[in-house]
Amino acid sequence: MEHSDPTRVQAPVMAGNRLTIDLGALSRNWQTLAALASPAEAAAAVKGDAYGIGAEPAVRALSRAGCRTFFVALPEEGLRVRAAAPEATIYVLNGLATGLAAAHAAGNLRPVIGSIDELEEWAAYRAAGGSGHAALHVDTGMNRLGVTFAEAQELAADTGLVDRLGLTLVMSHLACGDTPAHPLNARQLATMREVRALFPGLPVSLANTAGIALGRDYHFDLVRPGIGIYGGPYIEGAPPLETVVTAEARIVQIRDVPAGQTVGYGAAQTLARPCRIAILSTGYADGYHRSASATDGHAGASVCLRGRRAPLVGRISMDLMAIDVTDIPEARRGDWVELFGPSMPVAEVAAAAGTISYELLTSLGARYARHYLGDA
Ligand SMILES: *Cc1c(COP(=O)(O)O)cnc(C)c1O
Repeated sequence: MEHSDPTRVQAPVMAGNRLTIDLGALSRNWQTLAALASPAEAAAAVKGDAYGIGAEPAVRALSRAGCRTFFVALPEEGLRVRAAAPEATIYVLNGLATGLAAAHAAGNLRPVIGSIDELEEWAAYRAAGGSGHAALHVDTGMNRLGVTFAEAQELAADTGLVDRLGLTLVMSHLACGDTPAHPLNARQLATMREVRALFPGLPVSLANTAGIALGRDYHFDLVRPGIGIYGGPYIEGAPPLETVVTAEARIVQIRDVPAGQTVGYGAAQTLARPCRIAILSTGYADGYHRSASATDGHAGASVCLRGRRAPLVGRISMDLMAIDVTDIPEARRGDWVELFGPSMPVAEVAAAAGTISYELLTSLGARYARHYLGDA
C-alpha cells in the first residue's frame, strides 16, 4: 500500500532511491520486546515521524499488534498519532509547551511535565476546571528533562497532587542504558525505586529499548521501546530483532577511472589502482550522512549489491555518491544497491558516519520512494 500522505509518495519508476518499510517486522519486533518486558505494559516511542518510517502506518501497525500507549516528542506529532489511533493513550515527552495545556487536553494528549514551571501551568489550568491527564517526569541523573528528586519529594508531600493534576504516570529516562556496565544505570534504578515509593499507586516507567535489555528490575509498570521496534542495533542478551527499513539507491552510471586519479569534491581520495566506479543516485540531501565519506587514510561506509560489499569512494555529494565496483564486474547501470537493510546493518553505516542508527533513520529524506510491506 502507498503511504497515506500523497505528497510523500514518488513514482517508484522515476525515483533515484527507495525505502522498503516492513510493517510486519515492525509489529513482530514490538511483540518480541513486549514479551520480554511482560508483565509490564509495552508502549512505543513514535516521535520523529516514527524514527523516520512514517508515523501513521507505524502507529496503525503497532495498534493492530496490541500497542495501546504511544510516546511522541511534540503535540503536533501527538495529533497525528491520535488520528491514526483514536483510542490510544498518547504522552508528549518534550513537556507542556507554554500556553498549550488546553490544546493538549483537546487532543486527548498527555503532556509529560518536566519542570516546576510546567507543573504550575498545568495545575492552574486544572484548577480553572480544565480536564485531561498528564505524566510527571522526575530526573534521575540525565539532567535534561524532569523535576529534581528533591522537588519530587516536596510534591509528594502534597497527597492530593496526583488527583488534582490528573497524573497517570511517573517516569524517568536512562542516560546510559546501552552501556549495561555503566554505574549510572544502577544509580538511576535506585532513585527510581525511591520515586515509586513517593507516589504509591502511580504507574512507573523508566526503560527505553536498552533499558528492557537491562532486565526485569528496570521494567517497572511500562516500558517505552523505540529503536528496537525499528530494527535498531542488536541488544546483548535479547532475542534478535528484524530489519524494518531497507534503503536502496540506483546506479546512475559506471565509469573507469585510472590509478592516481581522484573521485569527487575536494579530490579527497586518490585511487591506488584502476577502478570501476559506480555513481549512485543518493547523497546527503537524502540523509546519507556526508561524514560517511571515504578520504585518503579514512575508510568510509560500504553498500551491498549482488550479495557483496562495495566501499564508498571519495566525498558524498548532495545528490550522488561513488562506490568501487571493480570486484563486482556484474554491476550494471540501473541496479539497485542496498545502502542499509538486511545485508548492511544500519548501525554499521551509522558507525562509519560517526553517528548512531537513530540519526540515520530520522534523517531519511523526502526523495525516497516509500514502499510499505504489510497493511499501511
Ligand atoms: C526516545 C525515547 C525513548 C525510546 O528510546 P529508544 O532508545 O529508541 O528505545 C524512550 N523514552 C524517552 C523519554 C525517549 O525520549
